[in-house]
Amino acid sequence: MPQIFRVALDTPLRRLFDYLPPAQGTLQPVIGARVRVPFGRQRRVGVITGLAEHSDVPAARLKPILEVLDATPVLDAALQELLEWAAEYYHHPLGEVLAGALPRALRLGAPSSAREERWLPTEAGTLAATSGEPRRASKQRALLAFLREHGEADAAALDERFGAWRDAARALTARGWIASVDVEPERTAPPATTLRTEGPTLLPEQSTAVATIAASLDRFGAFVLHGITGSGKTEVYLRVIEQVLLAGRRALVLVPEIGLTPQLLDRFRQRFTAPLAALHSGLTDQQRLGAWRDAFSGYARIVLGTRSAVFAPLPDPGVIVVDEEHDSSFKQHEGGFRYSARDLAVKRARQAGVPVVLGSATPALETLHNLEAGRYALLPLGRRAAQASPPTLKLIDLRGHAVRGGISTPAVLAIERHLAEEGQVLVFLNRRGYAPTLLCTACGWIAPCGECDARLTVHLAAGRLRCHHCGADLPLPPRCPQCGFAVKAVGQGTERVAETLGALFPGAAIARLDRDVVRRPGDAEGVMRRMSSGEARILVGTQMVTKGHDFPNVTLVVVLNADQGLFSTDFRAPERLAQTIVQVAGRAGRGSRAGEVLIQSEFPDHPLLTHLLARGYEGFARVALAERAQAAWPPFSRLAALRDSARTGEAALTFLAEARAVARHAPFGVRLLGPVPAAMHKRVGRYHAQLLIESRERRALHAFLDEWLPQIEQLKSARAVRWSLDVDPIELF
Ligand code: ADP
Ligand code: ZN
Ligand code: ZN
Repeated sequence: MPQIFRVALDTPLRRLFDYLPPAQGTLQPVIGARVRVPFGRQRRVGVITGLAEHSDVPAARLKPILEVLDATPVLDAALQELLEWAAEYYHHPLGEVLAGALPRALRLGAPSSAREERWLPTEAGTLAATSGEPRRASKQRALLAFLREHGEADAAALDERFGAWRDAARALTARGWIASVDVEPERTAPPATTLRTEGPTLLPEQSTAVATIAASLDRFGAFVLHGITGSGKTEVYLRVIEQVLLAGRRALVLVPEIGLTPQLLDRFRQRFTAPLAALHSGLTDQQRLGAWRDAFSGYARIVLGTRSAVFAPLPDPGVIVVDEEHDSSFKQHEGGFRYSARDLAVKRARQAGVPVVLGSATPALETLHNLEAGRYALLPLGRRAAQASPPTLKLIDLRGHAVRGGISTPAVLAIERHLAEEGQVLVFLNRRGYAPTLLCTACGWIAPCGECDARLTVHLAAGRLRCHHCGADLPLPPRCPQCGFAVKAVGQGTERVAETLGALFPGAAIARLDRDVVRRPGDAEGVMRRMSSGEARILVGTQMVTKGHDFPNVTLVVVLNADQGLFSTDFRAPERLAQTIVQVAGRAGRGSRAGEVLIQSEFPDHPLLTHLLARGYEGFARVALAERAQAAWPPFSRLAALRDSARTGEAALTFLAEARAVARHAPFGVRLLGPVPAAMHKRVGRYHAQLLIESRERRALHAFLDEWLPQIEQLKSARAVRWSLDVDPIELF
């Protein structure tokens, strides 16, 4: 009975591929190890996910594995279980899911450890070589002679010299003439448990949080660490991790894309002597491979990373931390495999039987719902004793005041006052560039993006018009291309607000923080330094200002426009708006002085804003959850979005309409909503549309998807579109 190896390959096909045992090679194929296999006319690297006795493929067509790449599985049983679960839950082909969990270098076949495989002749081998043995096997003879001559050689050198040599090596090993050793590059880990520095004395609420989590280190538990920025959440993570390291185990810490700052890394490195591996999107392939290897070998005691680090290998994990758990960058919303790293972190912790800590000043409504249902435990952190009282929040009615460059008179007066009192000011606007619109005042022409249903943003200093959706980048026209009249930049972006503030407050240095200013690593730090040194008095910025950085001297925060998000088609928009306002407001009054927060709006009576101001984020969340319950939106139902894009709007809608039609027999309790064109129908030259699938029952939804997806894959109209399924989508277009 031939042994069949089931191999997951990086293809969109929802199946595994069967292979016979390798004909040659020195490594044994094991589950979780990478193999190189023939695939059509190519060779591909895949992962063995299982063994079988039989294959549905006719025996004559089965091919052997070409090469086994790993002696130790790159995916241990726990990680493989997590990835298989994820493939099922997100209805995505396992091969692509596994490939997504491995660094690119490993997908291309790089060794999983930096160990060198060295070969050397034994004493008997040296003797045999001297007398020209083995006489009848020329390849073996050449290999043995080579090793005798050189004393030893690593596998790479043998690859280079001989091409295929492993068969010969195996024969010589069997005769006791040569042997291999793995040598590890010098890498002695400092003791894992030594603290470099002691932390501060914990405040009572921090102590309670640490003690509660520490009491649960040997079992699963989900803890929501709820406290504003600066309330000491990171200190709690550090103390819990200290306990985990003392127990000889390891920690996985996930942070949002924007949150993995050099300051945070420093804070971990300053506290612990234990080696740390950082995994984020800024790494080169080689750096990523290095960090992955440190995690895989167990050398790293702490793995700190962004979204995809949830798949990092980690022997014997003791705790998983998700900082800023509400952050939308934890959801992969591009490409094929759209997973939530936060949700998978909870799943991973459950499988490993360890606690997971979800930290946030503004927990996701899903998380608050899980708290209410008793699935998660709340660990609140209050304001630190050293801090002033919470900032006062005030709404400014934009319709009732003179506005200059987007800044109302009351806001101008407040800025003046805070600057006079030696405070610093933060001005928040979630739009970069100079102005969102370029308009001809004579004929009404508005600079459009040719590829998107969107306007081009004016970038005045750069002299460019840019599309923030597709990246189109054109010279700024001096006159209207339609009628030749003068053109005018309309509306506000951070670049223009900085200019306006410069004119209003000529004595105050102004710093700006957005993606146009921050191009290279270190740019953001430069801006921060200007603020923390006090050189800059006013900081104008986008979302980037809300995370990670401490400006203790900021006493005033102005939110220039709270109205984006109040009337969105996306049911999550209000939640995101409330989170942003709270996060931005949290930047005020963090030193010893109380802060003031001004929120400009054209709709100051909007219930979302009034609730938020009167009762804070918790008050807002209660109302928002009640609304979700009434409308049967998540977390009171489960959603999946089938999205597509095509060259024409018609093709995009046709595929989804046909997909809907094959779902005629949707089980009871599963509703299909749509298809509808996306709010921005045309984007990057393609037309986008979506069909929502909703159910109160998670199980019903998934049973339906299991049956439905193979059917829609067969649709002819599927070939005219690019489509993807997004389970638990967090953005609806
Ligand atoms: P968060 O993660 O909630 O933003 P941090 O843990 O970063 O909060 O704490 C904010 C600041 O307060 C940091 O500079 C930290 O070193 C300090 N800090 C935290 N806990 C304490 C404490 N118990 N005593 C003194 N300082 C503390
Ligand atoms: Zn014109
Ligand atoms: Zn565009």
